[in-house]
Amino acid sequence: MTEGNPRGVTERNPRGMTEGNPRWMNEGNPRGVGERRAGILREIGLAPLWKLRRSMPSDAQPAQLQAAAIAPLFPESADGRAGSIAAMGWDELRASVAECTACELCKARKQAVLGVGDVSPDWLFVGEGPGAEEDERGEPFVGQAGKLLDAMLSAIGLQRGRKVYIANTVKCRPPGNRTPTPAETAACWPFLERQIALLRPKLIVALGKPAAQTLLQKEIKVGEARGRLFDHAGIALIVTYHPAYLLRTLADKAKAWEDLCFARSTLREMLKRA
Ligand code: URA
Repeated sequence: MTEGNPRGVTERNPRGMTEGNPRWMNEGNPRGVGERRAGILREIGLAPLWKLRRSMPSDAQPAQLQAAAIAPLFPESADGRAGSIAAMGWDELRASVAECTACELCKARKQAVLGVGDVSPDWLFVGEGPGAEEDERGEPFVGQAGKLLDAMLSAIGLQRGRKVYIANTVKCRPPGNRTPTPAETAACWPFLERQIALLRPKLIVALGKPAAQTLLQKEIKVGEARGRLFDHAGIALIVTYHPAYLLRTLADKAKAWEDLCFARSTLREMLKRA
């Protein structure tokens, strides 16, 4: 990315992996991490299995992390609501989300779902909005899509809550799990913006188009945005498919795996250079 173009794109080859012999994971480590990971990959429907490269592709450029303030993505409302949310700590934010009535989504929700995980994370995964189970339990990604997300995290050695935070673009369940409207997304943006400011993750993974479009503030196609390194307010951002989409579109699971490998190698490189 370039200065003055904070949401610019650094083109990269995402393939932080090579197609591999399915047996590679067991080589020299018959009962170890490799085998466990192979099991996870089989479970999430990835075959043939894939080998992670240890480093980023040679043509890849790491994100230039900038200390820039987060620019307002949506116009501030006349009541200064976004400004007051921007000054909140976690307790206030949690309470404010719980009682929010800024859009129609509050009417049908059982509860708002702020997010879950390590509040000093390396990784921030951002989905679309709570579904029925999340609405019931008050935690993001606990239904079928959440199970797949957990398996995907596990495949790259991550675990919910350990250096990982999970949030959604909107905090209340859209009825029938429809896509949130632009007005709903805009009303909820100050909450996600504040979460990002408090969390300061090293890498954001946008899960699906609504999350990616909200964070990048432009029309995108996931198929075109994946494999590129974006910048959101000085934080590296990678786009991949939403787990719910992957449950319906098995053929794209391998691409999501590529994206996770790309994300993992990107973060490792950033940590090495830090
Ligand atoms: N889908 C999402 O985008 N978020 C959740 O929390 C659950 C399903």
